[in-house]
Amino acid sequence: MPPPVPFNRPHVTGDELRFIAQAVENLQLSANGEFTRLCQSWLEERLGAARVFLTHSCTAALEMAALLAGIGPGDEVIMPSFTFVSTANAVVLRGGVPVFVDIRPDTLNLDETLIEAAITPRTRAICPVHYAGVAADLDVIGAIAGRHHLLLIEDAAQGLFASWKGRPLGTFGALGAVSFHETKNVTSGEGGALIVNDPALVERAETIWEKGTDRAQFRRGEVDRYVWQEAGSSFAPSEITAAFLWAQLRQGETITAQRLAQWSRYHAAFEALEQSGLVRRPEVPRECEHNGHLYRLLLASAKAREETLAELGRAGIHAVFHYVPLHDSPAGLRYGRASGNLRVTEDAAARLIRLPLHASLTEAEQARVIEAVYSACRQPEACR
Ligand SMILES: *Cc1c(COP(=O)(O)O)cnc(C)c1O
Repeated sequence: MPPPVPFNRPHVTGDELRFIAQAVENLQLSANGEFTRLCQSWLEERLGAARVFLTHSCTAALEMAALLAGIGPGDEVIMPSFTFVSTANAVVLRGGVPVFVDIRPDTLNLDETLIEAAITPRTRAICPVHYAGVAADLDVIGAIAGRHHLLLIEDAAQGLFASWKGRPLGTFGALGAVSFHETKNVTSGEGGALIVNDPALVERAETIWEKGTDRAQFRRGEVDRYVWQEAGSSFAPSEITAAFLWAQLRQGETITAQRLAQWSRYHAAFEALEQSGLVRRPEVPRECEHNGHLYRLLLASAKAREETLAELGRAGIHAVFHYVPLHDSPAGLRYGRASGNLRVTEDAAARLIRLPLHASLTEAEQARVIEAVYSACRQPEACR
């Protein structure tokens, strides 16, 4: 049997070690050196954001966002249940309550028509997740946030280089968070960034990022010593991480183009399978330019999903499921609240598979994946 096709293979551009060596020569390895500033200004320019702060993860960026939003005990934040735990943890760590709203069956993003029913006098923010680098409906969600004076925080962990009506994801909310985890398009192993779009939040963001001090102002010579100003933490990555990330960001467009090509190949290949009713392919709204972050299919039933994953495994294809919904998880039940029923979330989470997709996936490997999915679906007990 040919070697297995891994679900993910971290992409390395070849420039990482050179930039890390440069960071070592700079003799500044802690945060906020040359490479941190290079990455931040590049992102600010590319995204058109007021400020960007590198963080050691998107989880950290979401925690910074919750601090900046002033989420406190009992404050509610509306979000999908179909997301990674970090979206909810950031709120819970401040004593807040994640309020879970169902998703749309086509994009698996927050169902914008259900948001207003979830708003109470305790609601402080809406946190849409752009699943698979496909945008949630930012027109409608932005308008709801505006009408109800709620902060919009985008979990754009998967959304770098994707856009809605030509504007980058992560720049619609007052705050946006992106991830550079190994599985994301552009990576530093672990890493992330907080995008601050509301200029009124920049100064406090800088303080919180600097462990709650005005150290950044001190460095710029604006104050003669730095002191503890408010609750903050250690959010910034080291220069070694930033140097690695700099190599990746510079090739971000190329990496994204490769992933989009693979995404499109899967999408074309599975059209016939969708027409025979065995799978449902993802849909991308026409306002959105996505970034090929992941390719997923919905199978006909939970049982079909299990059989298909097992069949793919036997063919040496590492396909995986995705989020286990948060609303009925032990912590979700303890800390959160579901708004209405979450039928689409439960249904999609039980039927979804993600296929191998990464910049170094070869056409031959991809052809094997496609062949194996068709073959699994031809088994009478599998795709039904
Ligand atoms: C990856 C991811 C995160 C967490 O990112 P880390 O950088 O691993 O902390 C949060 N939310 C979503 C939707 C993600 O996909």
